[in-house]
Amino acid sequence: MEKIVKTLKVRIKNEVLTRRKKERLRRITGRDTRIIEKYVKIIHHNRRRLCMKTKNGEIRVHKGKLDELTLTTSRIKKVEERRETVPHDLKKMFRHCSHDEFQECRDIAVQLYEQGYRPEATRPPKKRPRRQLINKKRFILTNLPKEKNNSISRWWVGIRDSLDTWKRKTRYHQRLWLPLEMSTFHQKELKKGQIKSLELRYKRSTREWWVYFQLKVLPPPSFYPPEKESSSSLPPAVLGIDLGINIPAAGVLLTPKKKLTIKEIKFWHTKQWNRINHRYKLKLSRLQRKAALNDQSGKKHQIYRFLGLLRRRYRNVKRSYIHQFINDVVRTIESYAKVYDLFVVVGYPKNVRKDKEKGKEKSTRYFRRKLHQWNFSLVLGLLRRALILRGFESHRILTLDERGTSSHCSRCGKEVSRPVRGLVHCPICNYTFHSDLTGARNIARKFLSHLFRPRTTTITDYFTGQKFSLTHYTVCRGLSHWLQSQ
Ligand SMILES: [Zn+2]
Repeated sequence: MEKIVKTLKVRIKNEVLTRRKKERLRRITGRDTRIIEKYVKIIHHNRRRLCMKTKNGEIRVHKGKLDELTLTTSRIKKVEERRETVPHDLKKMFRHCSHDEFQECRDIAVQLYEQGYRPEATRPPKKRPRRQLINKKRFILTNLPKEKNNSISRWWVGIRDSLDTWKRKTRYHQRLWLPLEMSTFHQKELKKGQIKSLELRYKRSTREWWVYFQLKVLPPPSFYPPEKESSSSLPPAVLGIDLGINIPAAGVLLTPKKKLTIKEIKFWHTKQWNRINHRYKLKLSRLQRKAALNDQSGKKHQIYRFLGLLRRRYRNVKRSYIHQFINDVVRTIESYAKVYDLFVVVGYPKNVRKDKEKGKEKSTRYFRRKLHQWNFSLVLGLLRRALILRGFESHRILTLDERGTSSHCSRCGKEVSRPVRGLVHCPICNYTFHSDLTGARNIARKFLSHLFRPRTTTITDYFTGQKFSLTHYTVCRGLSHWLQSQ
């Protein structure tokens, strides 16, 4: 199985770094930044000779040819293969930098150039990439045993300091030790893979140093049966998911059986999140009000700084909760996929947002604000990616337009008015059901009706715009049997 590269971000304990160490870090990465910039300029100048375009229109830089332009090789034994002079001799410009370090800088520069970074015409450039990539050989990651009882940190990373230190007239390289803020999560992640390299980065927004480990890991185990025969011998099922505001998601599993059981209904929600969310919002609104007051006491900039800090923290907390939520959903889908030939359909609530615009019916300010705070497209994108990474086929997770799904009876399909919040009651068949679950069940129905009464030969994913041929679905034996019986 092919390994994938993952980044693990670990914070360096910036508050205990000595001034000397910080200065050292700044100088190392600063020099590397200058080298990287030089490289980018050389690439850009010689782009006709070095760059190729792939079929997808991406740019690839030839590293070997770049080395021929920049680095002399005097250590090769065969004299005729040595390069004595090169057009851009970097070793002359940066005398204390080793060959390996040049190559690390080259790799970053090539990566940056391929991603579209171009040298600035004017000096100084606006945003300098203050970072340094370090290969596996040139750093040590240690975990001190408990007996040593180091009060600062148990985890340290030792980097060979690429600046020279002079002692008794000889030059040598010291090791720069940096304390890491390593949580149990980080330790678990580190055990999963091999460390490929490490990157030192300076985060401008918080003014902190971070370490980015690049890990080679095996992709998560695929929960979907690999052989197609085995999957289609399972009974078919469609899981409809309705994304909501008070309850982040509700799901109903639709199977060929008529009746729903409790196992086929699922709510994903976190009470803790609601509480934390509320608390943050309260704090933020208080601060905002304070900042808006025309206060001349000179404390205003302090309030704004604190406000920025709080907003960032809120965003991070929110993100971590979204990830937790996604994990929950994926785990449920995993358990269903073991027993069913499963399809997942998610309702996309963008149009609901449009329907509840200002001035429209039942659109209060409070409701609109809530509607815009939960980031649906982020949730959908993450869910999709998480499922596909685990071997879920991409046509099995679909997003459909949600409009109208929560205002129809989930049993007979008649349109109903909703006098009671949270419940859908149908006067015709006398059936009452939770509104989010009604939405979920109807979205699954909608998917089936697309297949049952096809108007076109494809189904379009509402979120990504991808088109899937209907033959993908009719191939699945269980599903087509089910459709025939309807
Ligand atoms: Zn009904």
